[in-house]
Amino acid sequence: MKIPDPGPIRAFLEERHASFAGEMGALAARAIAPKPEPPDDAAARRDARALLAEMGAAGWFEPIRRQDWRSCCLAREALAASSPLADAVFALQALGTLPMLLAPNAAMRERWVADAIGGRAMAAFAMTEHVAGSDVAAIATAARRDGRHYVLNGAKTYISNAGIADFYTVFASTDVAAGAKGISAFIVPADAPGLRFVRPQILSAPHPLGEIAFQDCRVPTENRLEEEGRGFALGMKTLDRLRATVGAAACGMASRSLVEALEHARGRRQFGKPIAEFQITQQKLARMATDLMAARLLVYRAAWIADQGAERVALEAAMAKAFATEAAQRIVDDAVQILGGAGVMASHPVDRLYRAVRTLRIYEGTTEIQHLVIAGQLLRDSTE
Ligand SMILES: Cc1cc2nc3c(=O)[nH]c(=O)nc-3n(C[C@H](O)[C@H](O)[C@H](O)COP(=O)(O)OP(=O)(O)OC[C@H]3O[C@@H](n4cnc5c(N)ncnc54)[C@H](O)[C@@H]3O)c2cc1C
Repeated sequence: MKIPDPGPIRAFLEERHASFAGEMGALAARAIAPKPEPPDDAAARRDARALLAEMGAAGWFEPIRRQDWRSCCLAREALAASSPLADAVFALQALGTLPMLLAPNAAMRERWVADAIGGRAMAAFAMTEHVAGSDVAAIATAARRDGRHYVLNGAKTYISNAGIADFYTVFASTDVAAGAKGISAFIVPADAPGLRFVRPQILSAPHPLGEIAFQDCRVPTENRLEEEGRGFALGMKTLDRLRATVGAAACGMASRSLVEALEHARGRRQFGKPIAEFQITQQKLARMATDLMAARLLVYRAAWIADQGAERVALEAAMAKAFATEAAQRIVDDAVQILGGAGVMASHPVDRLYRAVRTLRIYEGTTEIQHLVIAGQLLRDSTE
């Protein structure tokens, strides 16, 4: 099985996507997959920077600049199957850069986008706080206007690339009383005085994460991406566009797990025959393949709709992210079960995926929040 295999999703692709899938799959298998998993957080941080440069030079981030969501999904499928860390590098380049592509602020685009797409500047997206996880409107980091500057005070947690990013897309409140309508978005360079990397947060799968804090951090007014109070909408529009790509990463991890499980089931003999001949193993394989197919169809449908220029893809993206990430969790878990003891060895690709896949159900909006988005839309539609 090729990963990504454009065959089953061809109805949603154009000719150029099929050749792109082939190129990206081959490049990931050749240049990314052989890299060993970094042994600790410090090594993961160094590897992430090296991957950024390598992937930027190879043109991996170009689909982000073009806002070509089907290509972004194909890229994430290929990367996630080969290296969840490389996939995270791609995901954060998209998340931190897309707000600049969507906002009218030309100065910030000119300053950062070429460097981000070329892999010369690492992006980060700083939204979450201790008091504002799923409830983004509760953001307490304050941005107070002071002449030609804003002065930022507050702290952010669970920020990917914290401590290694070159710039942060920061969401802060310019009017606390206005809630979501008081949130604004800013580009804050990593070397801005008053911005501090507080500490790393260590995951079981390599993924640079951490806390940052702002203490009287002065940011020029030119760094505000949208009008005051439009930062929440910009953040949600960004997440709408990228949630299908999280589903694609889940599909990449699930596809690789299925490949590993099939190979093991054919080769491993117990009770005198390959375990693939036991119907209980076959039932698992059938369920894995069917769930994966359904997940990919939802993901590429959502990306296709976004590529048609739809203003809102919240419903399709939420369905794709929720279904694909939940399905991938089950598929990777079944792969571990089919592999038996071999599947929980830290060095095995399936164990690596087992540790990595879990975060996809949490970041960029938990499954429960996706379900709220879906149900909210259903209920609105049924009253019209
Ligand atoms: C690996 C990783 C990387 C991340 N990277 C970033 C990043 O780069 N930038 C960034 O800003 N953030 C990042 N995050 C943060 C992530 O977006 C949040 O963790 C996520 O939005 C959930 O917030 P929380 O952890 O505070 O959980 P909470 O919001 O406290 O949720 C806890 C549980 O309650 C449930 N829940 C909450 N509200 C409701 C509700 N209304 N109805 C039903 N259930 C509900 C949730 O679904 C969840 O199961 C990252 C997180 C992880 C794990």
